[in-house]
Amino acid sequence: MTARILSGKEIADAIKREVADDVKRIETEHGYRPCLAVVRVGEDAASAVYVGNKVKTSEELGLISEHHHLPAETSHAELLRLVEDLNNRAEVDGILVQLPLPRQINEKEILETIDAEKDVDGFNPLNVGRLAQGQNALAPCTPAGIIEMLKRFEIKMRGRHAVVVGRSNIVGRPMAQLLLKEDATVTIAHRYSEKLAEITRQADILVVAIGRAGFIRAEHLKAGATVVDVGINNVADAELARELFSGSELEKRLNTIEKRGFTLVGDVNPREASEKAADYTPVPGGVGLLTVAMLMRNTVDAAVKRRLRKSLVNDARATV
Ligand code: NDP
Repeated sequence: MTARILSGKEIADAIKREVADDVKRIETEHGYRPCLAVVRVGEDAASAVYVGNKVKTSEELGLISEHHHLPAETSHAELLRLVEDLNNRAEVDGILVQLPLPRQINEKEILETIDAEKDVDGFNPLNVGRLAQGQNALAPCTPAGIIEMLKRFEIKMRGRHAVVVGRSNIVGRPMAQLLLKEDATVTIAHRYSEKLAEITRQADILVVAIGRAGFIRAEHLKAGATVVDVGINNVADAELARELFSGSELEKRLNTIEKRGFTLVGDVNPREASEKAADYTPVPGGVGLLTVAMLMRNTVDAAVKRRLRKSLVNDARATV
């Protein structure tokens, strides 16, 4: 069996088109464009790329984008003040503070300070709690994008066994909550799970977010499963690439290692997944592309919801 490849690009492009249409309609009908404020502290190279991508995409889709880049020595109080300012500005709809933050800053307190209505990353405990209660909430972008992808590829979730490997606040935990919300039967596995392969072999839908290149092998998979590979790992070792890829894909990967020094690889062995699964997401080209698209979706949704509530409150005040 050769598995179907679930292309994240196709889904991400569709989501972005829909967001761009919504932004146009909101501007015509309501006279504003949703605004996303992105905050970056310090010079972390990966963060610079991620933030650049988020700012560029928001501009392409017609959103208003604000980029606040603060020096690495910014104090906790200074960052708190900026977040409070963004919370208080009516024209700012979404706030994203790029992680990781420098050591002197208390990340937890910063995330808790972001107004839950503007929390487009879905990391504020209020939104985490709402999600845990099965309510509609701003949900973290990567798992929300995966749900969107499964729906659009018409992969049934209701009643099926979904196993999530990894329990981070960014991917694993919210992923499990979102799958539960879709009426899947959900198991979460982690570093201390015993007999992992026995657990993952029960999965009709397997989502892996652990950060270990090619860790999930054929022995972990149920034949015919849907496999969602969230991992993004830099692999510089040509021997490992030979275990993960074959044919023309292997040639491509070896060339990339030679030119760039590494190639991007997921947490699942793609060669074995393609032989045993019914469908799987490639790395790159799978889940990674959905995250930014869902950030744009969250920003527009946050804008519409908050501004509608505000105008209802204003109308109610006017009639008193
Ligand atoms: P974290 O390091 O925060 O969490 C990793 C999780 O994997 C932990 O819960 C850990 O368990 C679990 N784990 C580690 N090793 C094993 C193992 N051998 N068996 C079972 N479970 C294990 O990572 P993230 O969740 O932030 O990211 C995971 C991967 O996804 C990374 O490669 C990251 O780059 C990628 N990623 C991709 C995104 C995208 O847009 N595509 C977005 C975010 C992340 P324990 O809790 O017990 O330590």
